[in-house]
Amino acid sequence: MFDKPLETAIVPVTPFQQNATVLWCTKTMKGAVIDPGGHLDRIMTAVDRAGITLEKILITHAHRDHAGAAADFSEAQGIPIEGPHRDDQFWIDKLADAKEKPGFDTPRVFTPDRWLENNDTVSVGEQTLDVRHCPGHTPGHVIYFHAPSQLAIVGDVLFRRTVGRTDLPRGDHEQLVRSITEQLWPLGDEVMFLPGHGRLSTFGQEREDNPFVSDLAVATGVGPPDPEKALGPAFD
Ligand SMILES: [Zn+2]
Ligand SMILES: [Zn+2]
Repeated sequence: MFDKPLETAIVPVTPFQQNATVLWCTKTMKGAVIDPGGHLDRIMTAVDRAGITLEKILITHAHRDHAGAAADFSEAQGIPIEGPHRDDQFWIDKLADAKEKPGFDTPRVFTPDRWLENNDTVSVGEQTLDVRHCPGHTPGHVIYFHAPSQLAIVGDVLFRRTVGRTDLPRGDHEQLVRSITEQLWPLGDEVMFLPGHGRLSTFGQEREDNPFVSDLAVATGVGPPDPEKALGPAFD
């Protein structure tokens, strides 16, 4: 029996139930938090339960429900922020004038200690995750892939049976579909992905029956989800 090299714990945060993710290297018990969008107390409960030492914060993209509490968390824990890609700078700037919303922490602007580029790698303990730049939902969106676990943390690029919304500033549905087919699918059908909202799935499953990016949907050029309809995601 071999232990898993990387463990994860999902902590839904904010009224959008964003899947903040604690992940850690089981050999060193060093870990990271991906997308601390709020509810830092809940995130720290998961960190303490895991018994790990936090090394860093990783960000997929700079929407409030993913990155709104990154500055507070970085300061409180004394840990650096890596990601997203610098094309999300304008979303980071927007955190400054986000309005108060019930259930959300007051978002704060942050400065990444490291911007990420396509094909960069990030470390968590002795584990290495590959970075892919996947614009479309936001221009600077990145995803993290741990090849040994065949696990991808994809933020708001792809969900079970839907895709990220592209009706927000600088969203681009065609670009999002290209990110999914050219950056995610080549990682392999067996890859399990953890989306920013909702439940886990595999790339192979979505290629089969996702109404927007199944192989058939891509071949026939299906348009974006309608935010007014049930299949359209209601969160950022
Ligand atoms: Zn988003
Ligand atoms: Zn989101």
